[in-house]
Amino acid sequence: MTGLVPMDVSGRLGRLVERLATEDAPWLLVSNRANILYLSGFTGSAGHLLVGEHAVLVTDGRYTEQAPAQIDAVGADVEVVISGQLTSVLNDRLGSNTTLGFEASTVTWADYQRMAAALKCDLVPLDGVVEALRERKDPGEVDRIGHAAAIADAALAEVRPLLLESVTEAHFGLELDTAMRRAGAEERSFETIVASGPNAALPHARPGDRAIEPGDLVVIDFGAMIDGYHSDMTRTFSVGEPDDFAAELLAVVTEAQRLGCELVAPGVEAKAIDHACRSSITVAGFGEYFMHGTGHGVGLDIHEAPAVSSRSQTVLESGHIITVEPGVYVPGRGGVRVEDTVAVTDDGYSALTRYPKDLAVVVEQ
Ligand code: ZN
Ligand code: ZN
Repeated sequence: MTGLVPMDVSGRLGRLVERLATEDAPWLLVSNRANILYLSGFTGSAGHLLVGEHAVLVTDGRYTEQAPAQIDAVGADVEVVISGQLTSVLNDRLGSNTTLGFEASTVTWADYQRMAAALKCDLVPLDGVVEALRERKDPGEVDRIGHAAAIADAALAEVRPLLLESVTEAHFGLELDTAMRRAGAEERSFETIVASGPNAALPHARPGDRAIEPGDLVVIDFGAMIDGYHSDMTRTFSVGEPDDFAAELLAVVTEAQRLGCELVAPGVEAKAIDHACRSSITVAGFGEYFMHGTGHGVGLDIHEAPAVSSRSQTVLESGHIITVEPGVYVPGRGGVRVEDTVAVTDDGYSALTRYPKDLAVVVEQ
């Protein structure tokens, strides 16, 4: 997408090499696709990026033109080698007298066996090295997630009237996805969740053929993607005036989410956000029905570091982008979740998803 703040892609390889100096290997074979995109700008579905004294992308003949063009466009210093023989290229470049780190969460057992048999150098598992660099976003990344979030906001506003037309969950989800694509999203962030009535009690329900009816709570969790960057938001609507139970759930979760967001600032422990949401819901009597963590990092992956949970060790820093998404799910009766994607700033936070939360009740005019 044009008109966005540029990203600092070219500086990322240098930061990775600095980081490798504190690890067990001077070279890293990057196999995770999001990590390859982050470091080089290359979006192809096949390829490995060797990073050390210099950087080499090994990919196949389908990407002869695309790979150098994408790498040039972001100004990354990466040599492109077209070859179907990754291990021969690695042996050529590394020889026997060094150690190569590999991404243990991405490389399969079969790939590892092949590399171990063919490579002359030593192999050592490394994990989370590039992911750690990805945690804090540069202004160009914040801008992309912000644009994705704005597209999601606008798409929801556009299709919201359908909630009054007895459409199925699947139909509503398809219209929402289509509205995001029309507004410029390159993809949806993940399979859109539209969970109505009793289905709203299932945190990750798939949209089905249940028709949305007056009296339902409808949980809608979705996001848009720009340049590989995701947004993530949830709103819960009451179709028609909510009964006392639904009104209480909406009020409890909306208040918990507000309290969680208000805490977001650099220097704050991520687990304190979780604690604020959880204790507010617990005091209201629904603690046992909030059975997931409060949030997660968002970026090139929809779920990435840092976690916002009771076990998180992260202290928030400016540049972190996280979700705040408490929920209450009462089996057989319904559920409510409210979620924003927020960026940690130098002195607090900025909500990237801005669709209002006080319009949860949808009533025919
Ligand atoms: Zn979500
Ligand atoms: Zn989320």
